[in-house]
Amino acid sequence: MTDTLAPAAPALHPPFGGTPLAELRRRIRGRVAVPIDPDWDAQRAAWALAVDQRPAIIVRAADADDVGTAVRFAVAHRLRVAAQGTGHNAAPLGDLRGTMLLRTDLMRAVEIDPVRMRARVQAGAVWQEVTDAAGAHGLAALAGSSPDVGVVGYTLGGGVSWLARSHGLASTSVTAVDLVTADGQLRHVDERTDPELLWALRGGGGAFGVVTAMEFRLYPLVTVHAGAMFWPVDRAADVMHAWRDWTVDLPASVMSSARVLRFPPFDEIPEPLRGGSFVIVEAVLQDPPAVADALLSELRRLGPAMDTFAPTPLPALGALHMDPPGPVAAIGDGTLVRDLDDAAIDAFLRVVATPRGAALMSAEFRVLGGALAVGSDEASAATGLDGRYLMFGVGATPTREAASAVRVALDALLGEIDPWRSAADTPNFTESPTAAQRLFGDALGRLRAVKHRVDPHDVIRSNHELGRGPGREPRTQQEARS
Ligand SMILES: Cc1cc2nc3c(=O)[nH]c(=O)nc-3n(C[C@H](O)[C@H](O)[C@H](O)COP(=O)(O)OP(=O)(O)OC[C@H]3O[C@@H](n4cnc5c(N)ncnc54)[C@H](O)[C@@H]3O)c2cc1C
Repeated sequence: MTDTLAPAAPALHPPFGGTPLAELRRRIRGRVAVPIDPDWDAQRAAWALAVDQRPAIIVRAADADDVGTAVRFAVAHRLRVAAQGTGHNAAPLGDLRGTMLLRTDLMRAVEIDPVRMRARVQAGAVWQEVTDAAGAHGLAALAGSSPDVGVVGYTLGGGVSWLARSHGLASTSVTAVDLVTADGQLRHVDERTDPELLWALRGGGGAFGVVTAMEFRLYPLVTVHAGAMFWPVDRAADVMHAWRDWTVDLPASVMSSARVLRFPPFDEIPEPLRGGSFVIVEAVLQDPPAVADALLSELRRLGPAMDTFAPTPLPALGALHMDPPGPVAAIGDGTLVRDLDDAAIDAFLRVVATPRGAALMSAEFRVLGGALAVGSDEASAATGLDGRYLMFGVGATPTREAASAVRVALDALLGEIDPWRSAADTPNFTESPTAAQRLFGDALGRLRAVKHRVDPHDVIRSNHELGRGPGREPRTQQEARS
């Protein structure tokens, strides 16, 4: 734990009294933690260690029954409920006073049905667990770049995978969801039982209930051509401009990112990367090697110092983006970009490739379009992403000073790119509180109507809230009067 996460002052008595708490502990098969517990700080830490979470109580559910018990307890004690898989995107949650943090990290079962090409995963599963299990059957899941991002949180927020330009957002592949709604009931949601709630859960975020399991489509794909090319960071301008040109007519079979990455000087990072700064193009091509090599030749003409492209089994893609393998103290933020002209690339580099961006470990663009275009899937709340590119920056925050420097650099980056920003953003790459209209766009009214139906008292908190819907019922008499 870092010094940005100071120990919480222990509360002498849980606000709900000893007897109900003892009863909750007796009934929960997982774990209940309250601020007076000796390991409270470990229990409340999110994957994003820079986030200082101080809920009223934590329940780590062992199964769907635990989730139901916990939600009913929360409602009875006028607590709200925030579900959390890993805490990768805990930052926008904000103040957790009066909230139960309902962690699902103990619920990890992954089942693959190779005949129906479906995965069914419990709410705490992380992507590498699914890509490994699916890969054993020659199947691919729409996993993101990071091996330990939670499948459920990622998918509720859309989910931009290495296969996204051909297969769309991961949320569009969801076929069924089990969730406990604010009334404490476990519902199985699919096209037959509740198509409108299924629509909302396909990219509309985590505001509708606590998901206990999710089922989604897998795709028959064993190997892709994947890798990265590295150049010294002083080549950033010509590489980034060339990458942008390369992406303009890129087939939907290719997904790619271009980034400036500063490797920390840690022993576990191999030479020649340790402590070095690079401009890096990563790509995944669902094409035969000869076709992939022809496509990549335009980038190879720039003479990369290192080139790792090779036939790659799908589960190995978890290592491609070099995301941290475990919890880190870091702050990140991102946005969708309408398009990248020369001036936009130059604006990005004015921060990222200069001392203004020195606090950023990584700043990248990912190319969108193809099956990610808005309107690609009308059966989902998130029909696509409203931009040709996605931008994301992140920096390590081992100290308060480092955290301030990262925030300043991120604000500078977002400020420079502002003229090219889309009117929309996407929940997964937005790590600061953001207006619901930006994140959910035209779907927002319909999402609020679903929320009002399944959670009229707004018990369930999502990291990106939907805001006031049509006639939300007051939660307390005091609120009703105000
Ligand atoms: C290193 C890194 C790499 C990433 N790479 C990608 C990428 O390639 N593509 C991409 O799309 N995104 C990516 N992301 C973003 C990631 O998808 C989001 O941070 C996502 O919200 C993480 O989900 P989680 O469950 O791990 O995190 P959490 O913080 O646990 O969950 C985020 C939110 O999801 C909801 N939620 C989680 N579990 C439940 C549940 N059981 N029931 C109801 N709601 C729930 C809640 O609203 C919660 O606040 C990356 C993030 C990081 C830090």
